[in-house]
Amino acid sequence: MTSIKIEAEPQDGIPKNEIDALKAQLLERRKELIQSINQHLHGQDEPNRLAFANYLESAGDWGEANTLADMDVAITSHDLAELKEIDAALYGIASQNYGSCTQCGNGIPIARLRAQPSTRFCVSCMKALEKRT
Ligand SMILES: [Zn+2]
Repeated sequence: MTSIKIEAEPQDGIPKNEIDALKAQLLERRKELIQSINQHLHGQDEPNRLAFANYLESAGDWGEANTLADMDVAITSHDLAELKEIDAALYGIASQNYGSCTQCGNGIPIARLRAQPSTRFCVSCMKALEKRT
């Protein structure tokens, strides 16, 4: 028997093919959002557009979760917030942390991830957070 190199441990028991499917979903949504944001910024001040262009450039394929937060401009569109969540999720996939609730650390059910791949909270933490706001 030859030694089989085991790929990076699937996070929290989510099968790799599931992760791949979710990642594809996230990347697809990311593309849509970028288009939408670009349109949204079209009529706006030059600094906002530049900052976004810089963000995309530095973010590469999936981005660093913190880059957008550090952006020194007030782009407050819903799209941008979602893009940030998606980048954070993609970052989680890349760093093997995807699929765990960032609040309590429990695994997020795969059905929930399929419905909302960018979610970072389990159902109970999400409910608690929603109550607070
Ligand atoms: Zn939780």
